[in-house]
Amino acid sequence: MGSTEVDVDPPRRRPERAGSAGDDRLSLDDPFTVPTDYWHPLPDGRIQCDVCPRACKLHEGQRGLCFVRGRVDDQVVLASYGRSSGFCVDPIEKKPLNHFLPGTPVLSFGTAGCNLACRFCQNWDISKSREIDTLASAAGPEALARAAEQLGCRSIAFTYNDPTIFLEYAMDVADACRERGIKAVAVSAGYINEAACRDLYSHMDAANIDLKAFSEQFYRKVTFGKLDNVLATLDHLRETDVWFEVTTLLIPGQNDSDDEIAKQCDWFAEHLGPDVPLHFTAFHPDFKMRDIPRTPPATLRRARQLARERGLHHVYTGNVHDADGQTTYCPSCGKPVIVRDWYVLGEYRLTDDGHCVHCGASVAGVFAGPPGEWGSRRQPVRLVERGGRGPHDRRTSPVTADGAR
Ligand code: SF4
Repeated sequence: MGSTEVDVDPPRRRPERAGSAGDDRLSLDDPFTVPTDYWHPLPDGRIQCDVCPRACKLHEGQRGLCFVRGRVDDQVVLASYGRSSGFCVDPIEKKPLNHFLPGTPVLSFGTAGCNLACRFCQNWDISKSREIDTLASAAGPEALARAAEQLGCRSIAFTYNDPTIFLEYAMDVADACRERGIKAVAVSAGYINEAACRDLYSHMDAANIDLKAFSEQFYRKVTFGKLDNVLATLDHLRETDVWFEVTTLLIPGQNDSDDEIAKQCDWFAEHLGPDVPLHFTAFHPDFKMRDIPRTPPATLRRARQLARERGLHHVYTGNVHDADGQTTYCPSCGKPVIVRDWYVLGEYRLTDDGHCVHCGASVAGVFAGPPGEWGSRRQPVRLVERGGRGPHDRRTSPVTADGAR
């Protein structure tokens, strides 16, 4: 697929050099490296990063597990401000968000690095990248907001890797977008500390949070993280105006037992309520989990059935063709109101403000006008600096990892 080119101004802090593969040194002379506020000094001379529960304790010059934050000049810095691993216009349903401006295009981008270490990562070429060349596209917040506007996108998504680790950049991009009436969407694992969580999501309009399983054992062994922190993020989002949906990738034999799914759904109903959408999506073998087969569609259907029996109104299956599992039903009269085939909308029976045309009941979500018509297209975008192709526009097409959302 060809890529669409969008002119942007050069980033305000233009680099004298774009960095080179293998050069891991941190420096505030690098124009993409900025100071941060989320850290504190320790009595033993190290500095602790406070963004996420990893709590990396850093010596001078050392990077955290996420790779993009590290210590330089006795403070924690972010080394990927204004750098991206690529851009693409996607359907919003791909994030997945089924109740947020349905059918509209979203400008997706990410940076590099991740604060989890999931053995099944479906975007591992980005999230585990330690090559500065992965971040070959550069654009400041204003340029990104303008690009989203030029491309006709209703929203911009921080995706491919987790915005938790580049929250300063994500928050500034969200603010620039908001000034142009463009919404901001975070796609995250929700593995973030309370203060950073509060700050990041106060700038977001919507989110999809990965709830990777419902057992501490799975989180510890497979993601090297902790379940409790993710549940705290979900509890926090429930208290905000951020529209959010939750995704669980079901991995055969790892997190797909009836007992675990039932416990997850009971917690979900009690803490989040019946109207927060839950997506069960299919795993495909990747990264360090290539010995496990794809998730059978029957597993997704069973999980959906269990969730609906426990009172959840909007439960979806993903990464498979399943018309019933991808249709939104009115929680009041039970009739289909948004029919989908994967990312393509079919019959649409909601009013412009999200009421069922059959019975008038309100369907939870963010609905503003008629549905979009973006369909299933995935349009790679290349940001080209005004006045020529700058040193950071070396990529000819953005990263389009299979399964990346
Ligand atoms: S954000 Fe990065 S550096 Fe900070 S604690 Fe988490 S993994 Fe460590």
